[in-house]
Amino acid sequence: MFLAALSAILGCGSTPPPCREAPSAPTVIVASRAKRSEPVAASAPASPIEERYGLDARRIIEAARARSTAFERLRELTDGVGHRLSGSPALDRAVEWADKSLKADGHDNVRREKVMVPHWERGAESAEIVSPVRRPIAILGLGGSEGTPKRGIEGDVLVVRSFDELEKAGEQVKGKIVLYDVPMRPYDEEKGSGYGEAVPFRSSGPSRASKLGAKAVLVRSLATASLRTPHTGATRFEDGVKKIPAAAVSTEEAALIARLAEGGAPVRLRLAMGARQLPDAPSANVIAEIVGREKPDEIVLIGAHLDSWDVGQGAHDDGAGCVMVMQALTTIRSLGLRPRRTIRVVLFTNEENGLAGAKAYAADHAAEIPRHVLGLEADSGGFAPFGFNVEVPKEREAAVQATVTQIAKLLEPVGALKVTAEHSGADLIPLVKQGMPGVGYVTAGERYFDYHHSEADTLDKVDPKMLADGVAAIAVLAYVVADLEERL
Ligand SMILES: [Zn+2]
Repeated sequence: MFLAALSAILGCGSTPPPCREAPSAPTVIVASRAKRSEPVAASAPASPIEERYGLDARRIIEAARARSTAFERLRELTDGVGHRLSGSPALDRAVEWADKSLKADGHDNVRREKVMVPHWERGAESAEIVSPVRRPIAILGLGGSEGTPKRGIEGDVLVVRSFDELEKAGEQVKGKIVLYDVPMRPYDEEKGSGYGEAVPFRSSGPSRASKLGAKAVLVRSLATASLRTPHTGATRFEDGVKKIPAAAVSTEEAALIARLAEGGAPVRLRLAMGARQLPDAPSANVIAEIVGREKPDEIVLIGAHLDSWDVGQGAHDDGAGCVMVMQALTTIRSLGLRPRRTIRVVLFTNEENGLAGAKAYAADHAAEIPRHVLGLEADSGGFAPFGFNVEVPKEREAAVQATVTQIAKLLEPVGALKVTAEHSGADLIPLVKQGMPGVGYVTAGERYFDYHHSEADTLDKVDPKMLADGVAAIAVLAYVVADLEERL
């Protein structure tokens, strides 16, 4: 997940270590964030939704858990295709793979809808401390960054821990390499992840430092764990502001530079980055449906993003989301369930550095948006199901939340899913703006930012059982909303 609007960055949200073989026992997964342990009024009388859809939900959960197809699909995408940044041949292969897989599952109206996407390329990168000690440092350029001349650049470092400090430094910023040494807050049961608080240093920090005359910027990686693994992500320079080289640095080496700077002697760095922006490239959103039996024009969208950063395998972000929505549709179909309304899978392209797929979908389907009954995005990794973030205009919020809460009760076997009013998903922004109720599928968040946007986001961090439970959660929500007698 990625950038533009701050809200766009909040999406990709996190869990526990992989425990291989999927045991089939329907354990209730206790995923942290508060309320998890609160019993969900077991003795309350069943709601009409529970009465009508209880059996279907149990069948869907059982079917999703019975096969490890989601994990197999994720293996194809991660080991077979690998990471897939917008504009790369790998993203083209991912589009091919998705199209072929959805067709193989026998879905309706499988198609690609063309989208032009930004094409940023990293190139070769290296960095080192040249004084007062000599030491290589691990960096990853930020998407949207400028490169350096081939021979690299050198400069003295200015360490800051807030935008206030940056502004106060004023003239001192000129000609410096600014390091934002701001540790990301660890996951907290009450407050969730610290990503939203830390992300401005990456997304707008380079632009703000450039305005004051900085030569380059390093950002301490937005990470909750590190084995000297930098975490990339998008940055955006304000219109009219000079683009400068900007990179994430491993948390270990951000700390080292800061310690050296505290010693008083100037800390000097050398930075070489081959980053460049190429002309926009063709890509596509990939779409598949189960056409509704009574109201085929009304749509329940379940989506995720097919692109990733150009490191690791994009396994949690957002390969997991892709295979969960794909297998949700396939699970419903395999049970012979055809809901009243259409369920549409949308695999968006270019979420990470542009949202071009989301914008193109909203533009191409403008006439249809009022008939989008609900849109769900899965972009918080393949960890244990945690809940649904509901994003609806205030006047409808209570009603939609109440219905989603009733549906969530059907999902008790996969976890006590918590329903909250929060941002739903970056790719849904243009649709939610036009009144479509948005839902973010949220997973347990402790581990997500250990891996996010780094070389460590690989298949071995994904637990097949948690992934299967995610398929169940998404399939049950989509199926029930698509089948309700009254439109949500
Ligand atoms: Zn993502």
